[in-house]
Amino acid sequence: MPMLEETLEKIRNGEVLPSEHLEEKIAIFEEREPELNAFITPTLDQAREQAKNIDSLVRQEKGEAFYGLVWGIKDNFAIKGVRMTCASKMLENYVPPYTATPVERIFENNGVILGKLNMDEFACGSSGETSYFGPTRNARNPEYVPGGSSSGAGAAVAAGIVDLALGSDTGGSIRNPASFNGVVGLKPTYGLVSRYGLADLAMSLDVPGPLASDAYGIALAMDVIHGYDPRDRVSAKVQLSFLGSLDKFDPGSVRIGFSDKLLDGAEAPVVKTIQHVLKFYESKGVEVVEVDLPDIWTAFPAYYLVMYPEFASAMQKFDGIKYGHRTDAQTLYDVVAKSRDEGFGKEIKRRIIMGTFISMAKNAEWYRLALRARATIVRMFKKAFEQVDMILSPTVPTLPFKLGERINDPVKMYMADALTVPANLAGIPAISFPAGWYGDLPIGAQLMGPRYSDPLLVSAVRFFEKEGKQWSE
Ligand code: GLN
Repeated sequence: MPMLEETLEKIRNGEVLPSEHLEEKIAIFEEREPELNAFITPTLDQAREQAKNIDSLVRQEKGEAFYGLVWGIKDNFAIKGVRMTCASKMLENYVPPYTATPVERIFENNGVILGKLNMDEFACGSSGETSYFGPTRNARNPEYVPGGSSSGAGAAVAAGIVDLALGSDTGGSIRNPASFNGVVGLKPTYGLVSRYGLADLAMSLDVPGPLASDAYGIALAMDVIHGYDPRDRVSAKVQLSFLGSLDKFDPGSVRIGFSDKLLDGAEAPVVKTIQHVLKFYESKGVEVVEVDLPDIWTAFPAYYLVMYPEFASAMQKFDGIKYGHRTDAQTLYDVVAKSRDEGFGKEIKRRIIMGTFISMAKNAEWYRLALRARATIVRMFKKAFEQVDMILSPTVPTLPFKLGERINDPVKMYMADALTVPANLAGIPAISFPAGWYGDLPIGAQLMGPRYSDPLLVSAVRFFEKEGKQWSE
C-alpha cells in the first residue's frame, strides 16, 4: 500500500485526480468488501459526486487538508441524510437530520466519505461480532475477528479501502481494532474531539478519534477533527499542532515508563513485541523508567461498573415511540417493552439489565465504589506522569482470536479491554500502533501519556515507524 503522504502529494501536484483516487479505492472495496463486511451503508454515489467537486477545487488549490482522501465513518456518527444504524436493528431505518461535528470538519476539509462502517452494536464489544448486520472479518486473516467496536474502521483501513477512518473509543474501541488489524489508532484526550453527533455509549468516557495506516494519517486527521465545539459541553478549549510536531520526537528528552505488571497474563508473542519496542526506544536514547502502577488492574472492573449504568441510562430514549424500531401492541407498556425486546441484541440487553441493577442495588453502593476506584486510577497516572512522559504497554494482552471463539463468554471477551480501559477512566490519550507480527496476526503496542500529550504520542509512533522495525516470528 502506498504511504498516505505519497498519495496526498500525488493529488496535490495534479498527478492523480481525487476522483481517480476514489475509483482506486472503490475497486479495492468491490474486491474485499464481500468478505470483510466492513461497511453497513456504503455511499458510493455521494462519494463520486463529492470527489468530482473536489477535482475542480484541487485545480484551484483549494484542497484544504484532505484533497479528496477517502474516509469511512463508524456508524455511530450522524451524517445528515445518511442512514445511521449504530449496527442495531433498533435504528435500522434511522436517518439523522444533522451531522456530527468531526464529520462536518472532514467534509469542510474535502475528505471524501465512502460510507458508514460496521461496528459492534451501539459500540458494545471488542470483536466486531455483535453487529445486527453481521460480523466484520479481520483484514489480515479473515478467520479472525477484527477487534471492536470500531471493527469496520480497523478492517477498512488495513485493507486499503479507505485512507482514514473515524472511530469512537469508550474502553478501547479505536485501539483494539487498530491493534488487531495492524494499523494506528488514537484515543485522544477526553474532550479534545467533539462528541456532538456521536451516539452515547458512556458519556463520561466516549471520545471520537482516527484510525490510519500510519502516524502521518493520524496527525493529518487530528489537526482537522480536534478543537473546541460549543455544542459539546465537555469540549476542551485546547488547540494542538499534530503535523507540526510529527517529526519533532527527541528521544534524548523523553522518558518512557514501564512496569512488568503490564505484561501479567499476556501471551508470549505480545510480551516479546513489547520488550522489543522498549529496547528499540532505549537504544535510541530514550530513558526507560520502572514505574509503579499498583491499581492498573482495578481499572477493568471499575470500567464495567461505570460504563453499564451510563449505558443503560443512554439507552432509555429508545422506546419505539419517537423514533427507532417499533412493535405495535395494545398498551403503551407493551409497545415499549416489545420494541426494546425486538430492537436490541443480546449484549445490549445484558448491559441495560446490569446497568439498571448496578445503579439501584445497595443504594448505588457499587457505583460509588467504582467512582472511587476511578479517582484512584486518575491519581495513579498523575503520579506516574510526574516521573515519565509516556507509558508503554500492550494494547491487548492476547493475539487476535478466531470468529465465534469468545462471543458466548462475555468475561473472556471483556478481558481484551483490560489495558485499554485505564486511559478512558483517566481521560488521558493513548495510541495503538503496529509493533509486531505473529505469522499474519498483527500485534499492537500502546503508548499512554498525560492529558493533551496527544501530539507527542503520535510523534513517538512516527519515530518508531521511521527508525524501528516490527518484531516478527
Ligand atoms: N470493548 C469495550 C466495551 O465493550 C469498549 C467499547 C468501546 O470502546 N466503545 O465496552
